[in-house]
Amino acid sequence: MTPVIALVGRPNVGKSTLFNRLTRSRDALVADFPGLTRDRKYGNGRLGDKPFTVIDTGGISGDEEGIDAAMAEQSLAAIDEADIVLFLVDARAGLNVADEAIANHLRVNQKKTWLVVNKTDGLEEHSAMADFWQLGLGDPWPIAAAHGRNVSRLIEEVLAPFPEQPEEEALPARDDGIRIGVIGRPNVGKSTLVNRLLGEERVVVFDEAGTTRDAIEIPFERRGRPYVLVDTAGIRRRKNVREIAEKFSIIKTLEAIKECHVAIMVLDARSGLVEQDLHLLDYVLSSGRALVLAVNKWDGLESEQKEKMRAEVKRRLGFADYADLHFISALHGTGVGDLYPSIERAFASSTTRWSTNRLTTILQDAVGEHQPPLVRGRRIKLRMAHQGGANPPIIVVHGNQTESLPEAYKRYLTNTFRKVLKVRGTPIRFEFRSGH
Ligand code: GDP
Ligand code: GDP
Repeated sequence: MTPVIALVGRPNVGKSTLFNRLTRSRDALVADFPGLTRDRKYGNGRLGDKPFTVIDTGGISGDEEGIDAAMAEQSLAAIDEADIVLFLVDARAGLNVADEAIANHLRVNQKKTWLVVNKTDGLEEHSAMADFWQLGLGDPWPIAAAHGRNVSRLIEEVLAPFPEQPEEEALPARDDGIRIGVIGRPNVGKSTLVNRLLGEERVVVFDEAGTTRDAIEIPFERRGRPYVLVDTAGIRRRKNVREIAEKFSIIKTLEAIKECHVAIMVLDARSGLVEQDLHLLDYVLSSGRALVLAVNKWDGLESEQKEKMRAEVKRRLGFADYADLHFISALHGTGVGDLYPSIERAFASSTTRWSTNRLTTILQDAVGEHQPPLVRGRRIKLRMAHQGGANPPIIVVHGNQTESLPEAYKRYLTNTFRKVLKVRGTPIRFEFRSGH
């Protein structure tokens, strides 16, 4: 499993500056969608052959008193989820009571902790750190997150005990079956759906083989086609749905997303959409994973409730409208079979390769239909398109002044390629390259 690093510390010590620096890689999971507030922010980073996940917390307010109050709930949760804690303090502000309270907690907590003194730029290192020795957390590490000073060296040290994981696509090919992950917040019906997908008989067999590994793969077949259910959330380990669900973990959900070809995200028609649904969806979207949406518990709803849910989904999940949407009842099995064609289509869409010829023709037709605008008297030119990657598909468009291409025109191109290539269930990413 990829090591998880939590950033904790008072507000304003530079946590989000460090977070942004560490996750500036192309697989950063942070995408900003308007209207989403975040308590904890997750991102992926990589140093050489070592990938890692970072959690940023809003911070522990310095105004509060006492350890418990000072260790705000979000930070505690982040520390819980992490393998390593980077405890940030501010060289310019000096040692602070809140720092001491946090340090006390971290000493007791026994997570591997690094004391990181930020904002040492322009300061004399030894005197800048002198204050912080008394926190009793070992050698302070001087950095300047804003300038990147010492950051790579710190992360290299931090990751030293963890194994290398070279970058190439780790997912096995389709031959063994499309890998399906079922995700969603607690109680939406994931475990009920998984039981449905597998069929009751296999459930029993599987439970006897119970294991403590993090990810479990359950191969199964449907109409002669192989699939693999990837269960990282432990939902299959419960003998029946009345057993207490495991504690919800974003980290495990992120692992599940990474391990599957197609994610089925389950939503609950009875409780409606909540903020946590949007956060999860945001992560799926940023990960580029193929996606099928299932609004569960559709049984026994009044038509008014159904209308309300439909409208809510349309209004709030517009940013994921590339995914097929199903209304199902995992409990009764209604609509569950219809998920399979969507899974197949999402998988196919995310892994197809298109020729440069085909993509360029689509681009030129789109431009012929609708010219890009003039910028400072010169027309933006789009000449050629080729595929830069799959899963998710990346389409690279070459031209002139592409950096000035308006968002609306990019959306027009996205929609056109989507329609002509009949892509469903996967985001398409565009990269624009300019000749000058
Ligand atoms: P957070 O509240 O802990 O997430 O802190 P931020 O990352 O928002 O940073 C708080 C302020 O400190 C911002 O104005 C940053 O620009 C500044 N800052 C962060 N890192 C450094 C640094 O290395 N040097 C200096 N001089 N300022 C920094
Ligand atoms: P999980 O925490 O996401 O794995 O959710 P569970 O599968 O444990 O389901 C949570 C609760 O919702 C249980 O009481 C289920 O019986 C119930 N449930 C699951 N699917 C449906 C459904 O399609 N319709 C109705 N009415 N209830 C459901």
